[in-house]
Amino acid sequence: MYGVGILKGLGVTIRHFFNTYVEDLRYVGKKLNSTQEFERRQGAGSSGIYTVQYPEEKIAVPERFRFVPFLVVEDDDHPERPGHDWCTACGICAKVCPPQCIWIVRMEDPVTKRPIPQPEAFFIDIDICMNCGFCAEFCPFDAIKMDHDYELADYDRTGVHIHDKDKLSKPFSYWRSIAPTTAWEEAVDRGGWEHIDIIKQKQKTGAPVAKPGAAWDSPYVPPIVPVKEEAPAEAAATGVPAAGAAEAATAATEMPVEDAAKEERRKKREAALARKHAKEQDGEG
Ligand code: SF4
Ligand code: SF4
Repeated sequence: MYGVGILKGLGVTIRHFFNTYVEDLRYVGKKLNSTQEFERRQGAGSSGIYTVQYPEEKIAVPERFRFVPFLVVEDDDHPERPGHDWCTACGICAKVCPPQCIWIVRMEDPVTKRPIPQPEAFFIDIDICMNCGFCAEFCPFDAIKMDHDYELADYDRTGVHIHDKDKLSKPFSYWRSIAPTTAWEEAVDRGGWEHIDIIKQKQKTGAPVAKPGAAWDSPYVPPIVPVKEEAPAEAAATGVPAAGAAEAATAATEMPVEDAAKEERRKKREAALARKHAKEQDGEG
């Protein structure tokens, strides 16, 4: 039937509208007056339409939030290839980008002139980018991702908004921190936490691959362990993991990732709030 979608959309808007007043009544007198309320109001658990005092206050963005893309590179403390690009300069993202705002120059061997699967230059014009996320969807190497950083306004639009490779590159640990669940799912699909080429290489040579949900053998990819999990009494008393503790730890990394991700995001927000309060107190003092 025609118009059902429109009615559904209007229903969502009306629900949010009334939720605003319900929330206001539920938290009347205590809203924003405590760290806990402030944190709840800015988190995913709040509902309704409301205003925050931006830029002092910011609403936490959901994991699926997407702003202009960034390029994934290895962390600086990666044991084998620190700072190495995940991008292979295949050019697929540039081809699928609807407004054609990606430019890539592939590296080449200075002697043989043969192409090297790495980008020498990579540019994205963020004024043209429409944040569709196609580039991230189509990249076969999980090398380009949508960012959460939306504070990119500037007075100069001639050069500052053309992001070059340096500006675009962010470590893999950053991607894990803003999108823990998605990063975990991608790692499951790839068969390990590392770049797909490295995983294949390791599989060929029989070297151990750091897999999500299995023993953590990768020093530069710290495990996400749910905070709720408590060590068994035996382990706590002796300091040595009990027989079941290793299994429990493995199980803990196996799928409560959503809980862990929420916990991680909650901790980050708490830390940001603590910094904010400390700054306010410094200002008062
Ligand atoms: S970001 Fe991905 S799709 Fe784009 S060139 Fe690099 S590897 Fe290819
Ligand atoms: S998000 Fe969309 S518009 Fe922006 S660079 Fe990627 S494909 Fe192009």
